[in-house]
Amino acid sequence: MTDWLFSPAPTPSLPIHGSPQRFPVRRILCVGQNYAAHAREMGHDRAEPFFFTKPADAVVVDGADPVFPLATANLHHEVELVCAVGVGGTIAGWAVGCDLTRRDLQAAAKDKGRPWDAAKGFDQSAPCGPITPGPLPDPAALIALSVNGEVRQSGRLDDMVWNPDEILAKARTLWDVRPGDLIFTGTPEGVGPLQPGDRVEASIGGLEPLVFTVKPR
Ligand code: MN
Repeated sequence: MTDWLFSPAPTPSLPIHGSPQRFPVRRILCVGQNYAAHAREMGHDRAEPFFFTKPADAVVVDGADPVFPLATANLHHEVELVCAVGVGGTIAGWAVGCDLTRRDLQAAAKDKGRPWDAAKGFDQSAPCGPITPGPLPDPAALIALSVNGEVRQSGRLDDMVWNPDEILAKARTLWDVRPGDLIFTGTPEGVGPLQPGDRVEASIGGLEPLVFTVKPR
């Protein structure tokens, strides 16, 4: 009797700018507090970046709109440069991502010294734009996010405490980083709340923008 069996879920994948092929997502690593001003706004001094994860199927692709998540009254946006790991475990391309965060659950977890999974790794928590292959077009590019046309986050990639190569090297000391891994590299200051219906536009100079609307449940 196998009537309880099912087909494996499809592998989530991202479009590749200028190519008909797609980038299959293996897993998502994220760095915390990698811009000095954002670390300060969260109440930290210049801290050594650390990692958390999201499941691969948290990624939201092809301009789809994420649904406002369960169990939060304080959903936050965090615009981030995303590294796409290719053959050989090196960075093969780049994208604009948004690390959606249930800030109220994160605050409660921090308060009690508990894990961040429910705050960070929830369903549809990682909207991500198309991958631009090759070297990063401008390592000092502006990184920005606006909500309903109002700029909320604005910074520069060279304000990162650790640059992408350093983050990758650090990740390799903790995991076997493999093709298909995405690394979210942290957010500049200006994180803030999102409401159902908000239109989010996120950009990094030289990369394809990420645009989505938060869908009501
Ligand atoms: Mn983040």
